[in-house]
Amino acid sequence: MFLETKALTKQFGGLIAVNDVSFSLEKGKINAIIGPNGAGKSTFFNLVSGSHSPTSGQVIFKDQNITKLPPNKIAELGIARTFQTTNLFEQSTVLDNVIVGHRLRTNSTLLDAVLRTKRFKREESKCKEKAIEVLDFVGLTAVSDQLASNITQEEKKRVAFALALATDPEVVFLDEPAAGINPDETEGLAELMKKMVDRGITVCLIEHKMQMIMKLADKIMVLNYGEKIAEGTPEEIMNNQMVIEAYLGG
Ligand code: ADP
Ligand code: MG
Repeated sequence: MFLETKALTKQFGGLIAVNDVSFSLEKGKINAIIGPNGAGKSTFFNLVSGSHSPTSGQVIFKDQNITKLPPNKIAELGIARTFQTTNLFEQSTVLDNVIVGHRLRTNSTLLDAVLRTKRFKREESKCKEKAIEVLDFVGLTAVSDQLASNITQEEKKRVAFALALATDPEVVFLDEPAAGINPDETEGLAELMKKMVDRGITVCLIEHKMQMIMKLADKIMVLNYGEKIAEGTPEEIMNNQMVIEAYLGG
């Protein structure tokens, strides 16, 4: 199994945000998680990426139990994520944002940085190379010297992808990548996700735009009030009575 959760549960006080969710990702495919607001989708991402520790249950990645690992260790294993909102350093260039974002995840200590040790300089130039490469991959070479404050919403989404890709992940979790952008731009991001899959990266995304999901995803999980109410191909999901009811409030 590539990446799977087993009876994953997260309780916040009296609220069970993620309830007994067992799900496995299809390797090398586009997986999607859908469900109404508050269904537990982002919390599920937080559990898999180590931002939150589950109340019970497990996360298994390539036969390794990663449930209790901190976020940086999980990232090192090859699991990357984006957040629902991307906070960039608005007064830095796009390139510097990716370099800095990537640097925060490499091994130099703050002391290395202050002393500008050889190791620090070597890592710095490696980070720059990697940043240039991933910005090219996401189609942002032309704006890499622009201030982050000057780029469009859609370009910011691409920067978020670049930040995730800089760690050379095997799997990326994308939290609502197409929120707040227009249909043409959404199409562009969909193409970019397919390009990631072509590179051998497994994708898991949370998305509200049903049309996009139905066209793009190979496998879908539907969450409602923290529980998995369905999983399957787009066709199976569209014809599932529980899903229809959850969405229509029936
Ligand atoms: P979704 O991403 O599907 O919209 P979330 O996973 O963000 O839903 O939230 C699921 C539920 O858990 C919501 O009721 C939300 O208010 C609650 N929740 C999420 N994070 C926290 C937290 N850190 N503390 C308390 N409650 C939280
Ligand atoms: Mg969310």
